[in-house]
Amino acid sequence: MPLFELFPVLEERLPFVSLGKYPTPILKLDKLGEKIGVPKLYIKQDGLTARPFGGNKIRKLEFVLGDALRQGAKEVLTFGFAGSNHCLATALCAKKLGLRSISMLLPQPNAHYVRRNLLMSLHAGAELHLYPNKPLLSMGTTVQLLRHRLKTGKAPYLIPPGGSSPAGVVGFVNAAFELRNQVERGEMPEPDLIYLGMGTAGTLVGLLIGLGILKMKTRVMPVRVVDEKFTDIHTVFQLHGRTISLLGSAAAVFPGLELSAKDVEIVADFLGEGYARFTREGKQAVTLLEETEGIKLDGTYTGKTFAALLAAAKEGKLKNKVVLFWNTLNAHDFSHSIKDMDYQQLPKSLHHYFEQEVQPLDR
Ligand SMILES: *Cc1c(COP(=O)(O)O)cnc(C)c1O
Repeated sequence: MPLFELFPVLEERLPFVSLGKYPTPILKLDKLGEKIGVPKLYIKQDGLTARPFGGNKIRKLEFVLGDALRQGAKEVLTFGFAGSNHCLATALCAKKLGLRSISMLLPQPNAHYVRRNLLMSLHAGAELHLYPNKPLLSMGTTVQLLRHRLKTGKAPYLIPPGGSSPAGVVGFVNAAFELRNQVERGEMPEPDLIYLGMGTAGTLVGLLIGLGILKMKTRVMPVRVVDEKFTDIHTVFQLHGRTISLLGSAAAVFPGLELSAKDVEIVADFLGEGYARFTREGKQAVTLLEETEGIKLDGTYTGKTFAALLAAAKEGKLKNKVVLFWNTLNAHDFSHSIKDMDYQQLPKSLHHYFEQEVQPLDR
């Protein structure tokens, strides 16, 4: 871990369990870059962090589940929308470590990936619960915590949505250090801009802290793909402060860091009608990257994020810039693992994702 090399005391203080393979590759997108007039366009392939399921959640879970293990947890409980990549990553990583996992889910628009992720969660042995809304999810959480505590003698370890606890965010502080090492090795010039999808903002905040500590000139462009009531600038500031506190209490040598509003300008125009509602621009971005570079994006996170990059390119804002697209989406095909899974084995409340059509833009 590059972070531990610079701050060795963190290695003793911050629980960590290895779940991924690093550094993730950086590629130059020559063909697409030429086509859209961004000659210095690069991609960071965080889809390859782990098998059978990679993506950005693995970096967070290395610290989150490290903490769960240190606390002697036997079970973890976490939250997400029905097709949550985070819940699936948690289920698979927990299983690898001999922990049971419970996913507390909320409804979302239907898509093929929702079905795949649900079946893969089942394959990983996760206990799944869907609630119609937030108040019922809160009540359900109280019930499940109690039920599991009575059953096992210990309450499950709680993981917030997206794995974005301060411990989870540290995974992306480390990712910034990893990027700096790759820049030093000549894999790409120091980026002017990083385009990044923003859900719970853990990925963003970790990178902001890491880039800040390293005094890199790189500016992060967070593209919001969830409703503003879910994540806004206050979420970013709060998580930033809490993570700096964690790092400062773990290592007195860790520098304090102030975040100023001008460091984070959230790009809000690409959400469309809401979380996981695919947009036309998002779909076009997915198709373009697939056709020119053979890289797969999704309609919920990375397609919308890439659409923001394409729009900025079209306006001529990226011409002379070194631009890095941070691909947060799992890159591995796990369909062979779920081909024999039967959705009837899922809780009844989830069956409609298999019995009703997916949203029009995903057909
Ligand atoms: C969770 C997720 C994100 C958002 O990351 P946050 O740290 O929650 O902001 C982006 N892309 C993909 C593919 C994700 O699964």
